[in-house]
Amino acid sequence: MYPSSVRQLIDSFKNLPGIGEKSAERLAFSMVNFDKETLTNFSNAIVNVRDLVSTCKICGNISEGDICSICSNEDRNNGMIFVVEKPKDIFLFEKLGVYKGRYHVLGGLLSPLEGIGPDDINLKSLLERVRDGKVKEVILALKPSVEGETTMQYIRKVLSEMDVTVSKIATGVPIGTDMEYIDSLTLELAIDERKDIS
Ligand code: ZN
Repeated sequence: MYPSSVRQLIDSFKNLPGIGEKSAERLAFSMVNFDKETLTNFSNAIVNVRDLVSTCKICGNISEGDICSICSNEDRNNGMIFVVEKPKDIFLFEKLGVYKGRYHVLGGLLSPLEGIGPDDINLKSLLERVRDGKVKEVILALKPSVEGETTMQYIRKVLSEMDVTVSKIATGVPIGTDMEYIDSLTLELAIDERKDIS
């Protein structure tokens, strides 16, 4: 019943998390009323993301170019790596401006039930970075779910042979979906009170 271009737009919106048929229709119809320039900017933004954004070869963050702006920043502390689940977590932490070390994005969490094992997440490159010798401390900042705990235990185990301190961000801090609500003082405390689990 919709013109096929509008149908295609509705179906595209349905790829977004939390967007079903009704919301997709609403978004598509509001776009139909955009002026030409706004629509052009919108589509250019999507094309630019497609063509320019890739994954940082060092940490797994999103990046324009092979190496992201954090990995290429020489003023940051090489001795510390914050291990996070998603690139989005980096941006949440960075907004708070408290942490000045490096990051590593796993891109997922271990989940034996769903068949997600160590080879399915960005773990090998973390070990290589630690093996390099510059890293003195790995701070695990994963959400306190079953998968998060399983992943932290696993990382602790594989790093136990190496000359590095493994700690986890203080518990009681909502990490992951609730991370948006963390403020800079809470993060500072969570870093200060991190627990050595190596
Ligand atoms: Zn990077």
